[in-house]
Amino acid sequence: MTKTIDRISLGAMSPGTERFILAHRYGTKGARPKAYIQASLHADEIPGMLAAHHLIQLLDAAQARGEIEGEIVVVPVANPVGLGQIVNGAHSGRYELRGGSNFNRHWPDLYDGLLDAVRGKLGADKDANVKAVRAAVGAKINQMNPDSELARLKVELARLAHDADMVLDLHCDDEALMHVYMQPVHWEGFGDLAAELGARAGLLCMDSKAQSFDETFSLPWSKLKEAVGDTFPIPNACFATTVEFRGQADVFDEMATKDAAGLFRFLQRHGALAGDPGPVPAASCEGTDLEATDIVRAPSAGIIAYKVALGAEVKKGDLVAELVDPLAEDQSQARQPVRAVNDGLVLSRCLRKLVSPGDGIAMIVGKTKLAHRKAGALLSD
Ligand SMILES: [Zn+2]
Repeated sequence: MTKTIDRISLGAMSPGTERFILAHRYGTKGARPKAYIQASLHADEIPGMLAAHHLIQLLDAAQARGEIEGEIVVVPVANPVGLGQIVNGAHSGRYELRGGSNFNRHWPDLYDGLLDAVRGKLGADKDANVKAVRAAVGAKINQMNPDSELARLKVELARLAHDADMVLDLHCDDEALMHVYMQPVHWEGFGDLAAELGARAGLLCMDSKAQSFDETFSLPWSKLKEAVGDTFPIPNACFATTVEFRGQADVFDEMATKDAAGLFRFLQRHGALAGDPGPVPAASCEGTDLEATDIVRAPSAGIIAYKVALGAEVKKGDLVAELVDPLAEDQSQARQPVRAVNDGLVLSRCLRKLVSPGDGIAMIVGKTKLAHRKAGALLSD
């Protein structure tokens, strides 16, 4: 089957501004496994788009060699709405300017109504149950009536991704080491993705409560599984992950070429592509509970002066940064220490050095769950 490229309209919010998403489709529709990969849902996170560009070239070559085994869909620009949000020279691609919402939050709850939709269709055959669930989710998406460009973007991306066995959402952090998010249940089977990409953290969370893109597709399975208990076999049939391709400035062909090769080997190992990916590389991290990762927050407004580098190992109480008050009259009183509350690896830092009270200024990946991380949302907004 030859490759096709779907050009999907998002309509127009004002005359003459119709935008599109492009979906590169490889393999036969319905072939298994299906992998869905998209880049830069937060549109100012560029590394994923460059990795997708390199991956598409690798997939085109694989297609020419007849190596597509499953179905692979790549959307290299997941968010053309945010891609165009350049205001006075500054790209603002995380929140939709029209309504203010974070593009990777508040995705439709595909579990809502699912139990009722599949009740009576489930049985002892696990594969038949998977088919029934996918059909019900697909039917729910088909009934959605998006009334805006953003809503249409969500529906169209969900339509492409909802029935995939593997959903890879390529993002990046501010300034960060490579890391991945996934549900704990998938670490054993799909943690090789972290190894292939050289990830320094595998952050595991069943439900961050953020209604992020990846969880939109993994959560219906875990929720349904919990709801039906042992009555019917329901596998966690969608491995969905957010991959953070380092930081916003880490956009280089040298990195993106290697990252794409890592994604390619991952797709080989999981059967979407023919060919031998070789052994899984030595892991550069273990999977750790997201509740064990602290988001260090600025206690007040000021200028952040970091005292630790990315990749540093810190202990509880270590100085992470000093917050400088540029309006202090006595300069000896201008600096406020910000200390780590856990032992761990400094995974990310803030690019913007002028911060407001409560801003996340660093992520520190620990191994012991932190009580204060259980209370609220586990992801930064
Ligand atoms: Zn992002």
